[in-house]
Amino acid sequence: MTDLMTKTAADEDICARVAEDETPMQTRMLDWARTNTGSWNAAGLERLAPSLADAFSCLEADIHLQPTQPFEKVNAAGQADTFQTGPIIRIGARPSAPVQVVMSGHYDTVFPEGTFTDITDLGEGRLNGPGLADMKGGLSVMLGALQAFEAGPLKDKLGYQIVITPDEEIGNFASGATLIEAAQSGAMIGMTYEPCMETGAMSGGRKGSAVFDIVLTGRSAHAGRAKEEGRSAIEAAAHIVVGLEGLNGTYDGVTFNVGTLDGGGAVNIVPDLAIVRFGARAPDAKAAEWATQQVQSLFEQATARDGIEGHLHGGFYRPPKPRNAAQQALFEAVAQTGEAIGLNLEFVDTGGVCEGNNIFAAGVPNVDTLGVMGGRIHSNEEFVVMSSFVERAQLSALLLNRFADGRIDARKIKALMS
Ligand SMILES: [Zn+2]
Repeated sequence: MTDLMTKTAADEDICARVAEDETPMQTRMLDWARTNTGSWNAAGLERLAPSLADAFSCLEADIHLQPTQPFEKVNAAGQADTFQTGPIIRIGARPSAPVQVVMSGHYDTVFPEGTFTDITDLGEGRLNGPGLADMKGGLSVMLGALQAFEAGPLKDKLGYQIVITPDEEIGNFASGATLIEAAQSGAMIGMTYEPCMETGAMSGGRKGSAVFDIVLTGRSAHAGRAKEEGRSAIEAAAHIVVGLEGLNGTYDGVTFNVGTLDGGGAVNIVPDLAIVRFGARAPDAKAAEWATQQVQSLFEQATARDGIEGHLHGGFYRPPKPRNAAQQALFEAVAQTGEAIGLNLEFVDTGGVCEGNNIFAAGVPNVDTLGVMGGRIHSNEEFVVMSSFVERAQLSALLLNRFADGRIDARKIKALMS
């Protein structure tokens, strides 16, 4: 496949078209970043969605805003609240073309309204601002690559389904099913636009990620007059906490982390409520199953205690994305394509997760860090490297050309999944 390292005439043309689009790609990212779209800011998400759909309307595609279903969230009182977030932006083109890709990205950020709003020029071609790298810049690069691709001669050979989600940073609870459905509507390859690292390196294997909430109830009693009549939910929860942390290091690559333990009140009352919230990470499907069984068994032990009842919520919302044969073949094709434009791309394994995990779980090999170069994401020092727009959009545009004309055989790569 060494011919991937050189450019055809169609490759030269698409790279030139991308380069002409540098300013619009950067400008629209800045426009989008001026609207706060923190994951819990439904009004902000609702406000930005039509502008995003409008920007993508230059594509030869069908676009619609798909309302999301409310999803459950366990509140501080241990009850399930519902939250209604903004719409999913669905964009689809040429569903009967011979090559099909699924593309994804998110328009929410980790920053609640009013917490981080300014866009600051840091000099040396870096801008600091909320969601610039993660991932309003990435969405802009996705669009730039598609525009350049559709202006070329290979367009009719490739169709796509795009899913732009309002809830990636909180786990895609409202949009996960849509991602899976889009991936399973014939896609051979997935392309997701998380930022690459500051060094230009991309993500390789990813662990799976789980979030669990355990709600335990006991019986309250006056701690002085009738301690023996009480059943402490916090004591039962403490066994779970110690049990979970004790599992660390016992199964290769699996980790548990208790984030919060809430409950109780005054010190003279036996606490009748405790909520344990924790996360788990696992490198492959077998490890994830083991981790889930451990959680189940600790929960059963806690609720077997006299007077203690409970609920277990959650699970592996992002299944593991190991480097299997299909992923490896795709990474090699991407790396060789990068060489055609002078990029030396490395793929680094990570414990971090993204929509690429879900698309992999839907049976579609994918590369998920096709977005802009940036760093310090999820902090108010987040920055984007402005010079990366052209090179990263060129990388995606070249990949589309190569999937379309068969120099990268998308069907063959997908067949390696089984
Ligand atoms: Zn992101």
